[in-house]
Amino acid sequence: MTLLILGTIGLDTIETPFGKKQDILGGSAVHAAVSASFYTDTAIVGVAGSDFSQEHMDFLKSRKINTSGISIMPGETFRWSGYYEYDMNQAHTRDTKLNVYGKFEPKIPADLLNSEYLFLANLDPELQLKILDQTRPKFAALDTMNFWIDTKREFLHEAIKRVDFVLMNEGEIRQFMETPNLPLAASRLLKLGAKNVIVKKGEHGALLFTPNSHFSAPSYPQDVLRDPTGAGDSFAGGFMGYLAKTGDLSEANIRRAIVIGSVMASFNVEDFSLDRMKRLKFKEVLDRFSEFRRFSEFEALSAVLS
Ligand code: AMP
Repeated sequence: MTLLILGTIGLDTIETPFGKKQDILGGSAVHAAVSASFYTDTAIVGVAGSDFSQEHMDFLKSRKINTSGISIMPGETFRWSGYYEYDMNQAHTRDTKLNVYGKFEPKIPADLLNSEYLFLANLDPELQLKILDQTRPKFAALDTMNFWIDTKREFLHEAIKRVDFVLMNEGEIRQFMETPNLPLAASRLLKLGAKNVIVKKGEHGALLFTPNSHFSAPSYPQDVLRDPTGAGDSFAGGFMGYLAKTGDLSEANIRRAIVIGSVMASFNVEDFSLDRMKRLKFKEVLDRFSEFRRFSEFEALSAVLS
C-alpha cells in the first residue's frame, strides 16, 4: 500500500551537547518518509528550493521514495535552526524560515490520489487541510508542533477532526490542551474531536489514548544519543509505514505499530540528520523490536496473593 506523506523538506542547523551541524538534510516529511520506506511504498508531497542538492534527492530515491510530488521552486529551501541541552526531549527553536513553503500550494500527483494511507507530518495546518480536501484515505494521521499551535490553532482544530490519529509530543499536547496532566490533555483532545491520540514521550516511550482504551509503550534505555531531531517524524513514519504494510488496523496491531515507531525513532537519534538511517539494516530493527518486548515483559501476580 502506498503511504503518502505531506511535510517539510528542510535544511537544519542543529546544536546538541555532542556537536553543531549546519544546513543538514532534515524536514518532517524527509524523516518520516525515510523511516516509512523500510516498510512500504512511500511518496512525499512537499517543496524544496533551488539550493536543495541533488545528492539529497538521490538519497530519497535510493530509499525508493516516490519524489514525483516534490516541486522545486525558485528560492530557498525551508530552514529550521535549533538547539538541545542535556534534556534532549526538549527542542529549542532559534529560527524557522518557511522560505518556499510560504508560497506552496500542495497538489497530489494524479497517480497518488488513491493512496490509502496518509500522514500529514508537521506543517502549516492550512496546507494539511488542502491535502485532506484532495484525497479520501482509508487511514490518516497528523502531527504538529508548538509553532503551529501558537499561530494556526483554529486550522489545527479543523484538521484534527478529519484524521484518525493525532500524534503530539508531551510538551505540545500539554501546551495545546493547557494542562500538565497527560491523560487529561488526551481526553480533552478526544473531546475536541480527535478520534485517537498518541503522546510521544521521547526516550520515555509513548502513550496511546482511544475513546475506550489506553496503552503505554515501553521506554528504551538509549545509550547512544547524539541528535534527537526527527525522532517524532521517524516514529510516525515507522508507525504509518508498518500499518500500511500490514493493512491491519486492529488495536493489537496499532500497539505493535507504536513499538515499531519507537524502534525507528531510537535509531534516528543515534546520529545527526539521516546518517544513522542511511546505515540501518532491517535485521537491527527486528532485534531492537525484540529488545523492546523483553524490557516490558512481566508476569502475573504470584498465586499466593490470590
Ligand atoms: P521532530 O521529529 O519533531 O524532531 O521534527 C524535526 C524536523 O521538523 C526538523 O528536521 C525540521 O526541519 C522540521 N521542522 C522544524 N520546525 C518545523 C515547522 N514549524 N513546521 C514543519 N517542520 C518543521
